[in-house]
Amino acid sequence: MSDTKLNLIAGEWLAGEAEIENRNPSDLSDLVGIFAQASADQLDATLQQARRAQAEWAAYGMERKQAVLMAIGTELMARAEELGTLLSREEGKPLAEGKGEVYRAGQFFTYYAAECLRQLGENADSVRPGVEVDVRREAVGVVAVISPWNFPTATASWKIAPALCYGNAVVWKPANITPASAVALTEIIARQDIPKGLFSLLMGSGRSIGQRLVESPLVNAISFTGSVPVGKGIASAAIQNLTKVQMEMGSKNALAVMDDADLDLAVTLALGGAFGGTGQKCTASSRLVVHAAIHDAFVEKLVAGTQVMKVGHALAEGTQMGPVVSQQQLAENLAYVDLGKSEGAELACGGQRLDMPQDGYYMSPGVFLNTTNTMRINREEMFAPLTSVIKVGSYDEALSVVNDTNFGLTSGIVTQSLARATHFRRNARTGVVTVNLPTAGTDYHVPFGGRGDSSYGPREQGKAAAEFYTTVKTAYISAGAPQ
Ligand code: NDP
Repeated sequence: MSDTKLNLIAGEWLAGEAEIENRNPSDLSDLVGIFAQASADQLDATLQQARRAQAEWAAYGMERKQAVLMAIGTELMARAEELGTLLSREEGKPLAEGKGEVYRAGQFFTYYAAECLRQLGENADSVRPGVEVDVRREAVGVVAVISPWNFPTATASWKIAPALCYGNAVVWKPANITPASAVALTEIIARQDIPKGLFSLLMGSGRSIGQRLVESPLVNAISFTGSVPVGKGIASAAIQNLTKVQMEMGSKNALAVMDDADLDLAVTLALGGAFGGTGQKCTASSRLVVHAAIHDAFVEKLVAGTQVMKVGHALAEGTQMGPVVSQQQLAENLAYVDLGKSEGAELACGGQRLDMPQDGYYMSPGVFLNTTNTMRINREEMFAPLTSVIKVGSYDEALSVVNDTNFGLTSGIVTQSLARATHFRRNARTGVVTVNLPTAGTDYHVPFGGRGDSSYGPREQGKAAAEFYTTVKTAYISAGAPQ
């Protein structure tokens, strides 16, 4: 019997038209598994069945839906060690981050389990005497979820949980680099008390099955996280069918370090924000905007801290930074190192391919100094363990550099001044702003999203997710004359 991991199509686990191998980026000799690639016919079948299943699911009582989401969340949290190990093995983030991600994914489900019971509408009197108005939200229908590899379980969960909570069917196309985490989550969801075909998994390449999915008139809404060019293509495809779309894309997040900052805190935040997840986060601190008065002391500690970071196998004890996710991403990262140098930036440390006892996609974390905000390394999302220091002469200049970007997901300030922190919080042009905290790391019960090229469409997470996963119905009711 084949060990190929299958897709969940219209409620059945099925082989596909092809298979791919998935290897551990920490150790390429470790085969994580072999995964089916869905065919176009399977996509069509699953979308038809999803439509039928959605009507059935929407009619489930709220407690029944709540129980399903709670069971998924509880199991994810209980199995965080096991599933986090699998995640780290296929994505390359250190085990603590892998476990933390799976646990957080569970929290998305338990949060939205509770939301199943809290779907209150609004009532009003009509302008017409004797008429009442009832405003409530209904499911959108069939939701396509297209998720990236950098948070393979959490990102998918913060889309799937609200989609199910608000009564939708889900067709999930995960990133093809991290299919094992997708199969693990799907196995948990498939075991629940849900209509056949309510939830589907279609592994396959974005260019083929992903593109066909977003072009389908049977899809009512698309939630995507990934790169800007792919996001723009999805938006163009979606508009042909007037499909609702929500997209979280790249960013170029800045952490402003002021002259009154707690230096050790600033360095800790910069290191964690820049190199957590090997820098492969849409919230990564890829620009460090540092006040001249503190610049040299900050840089000295930052470079020292970067040089002692332990790079290694994601599952090895003591590893602080794992490998890059893929050969392609590694090649792009090293090309950015060359680009930065050619633009005149000084590479203070790192940015090198690393040889390890086992063959993997390792590189050392790198810091660029003497950079300007016009350099491409400070304008393009690198998605790499690379960060740049930009020296500024004042708070005003820092704010203007932070805001000088096409993106706008997160920004942060390190300062002990309440006045500056308040001004920054109100004037930074990003969807998320942090004070004395890293630019990366957000909660699940409040909105998440950005401005500019970082996001398009309604916010994700918290109650804000209802905007995307539901449609509003306004009912007018006349009781008639009393008998
Ligand atoms: P992509 O934008 O290519 O991929 C994201 C998801 O979209 C994947 O599931 C992918 O499938 C799918 N996809 C790709 N093309 C299409 C399409 N035409 N129609 C529908 N779905 C599609 O990102 P990459 O993984 O290639 O990463 C490239 C860069 O994107 C990174 O270096 C980073 O800058 C940025 N990125 C940003 C993320 C974020 O969190 N904001 C997350 C991931 C990437 P497939 O599995 O085939 O790739």
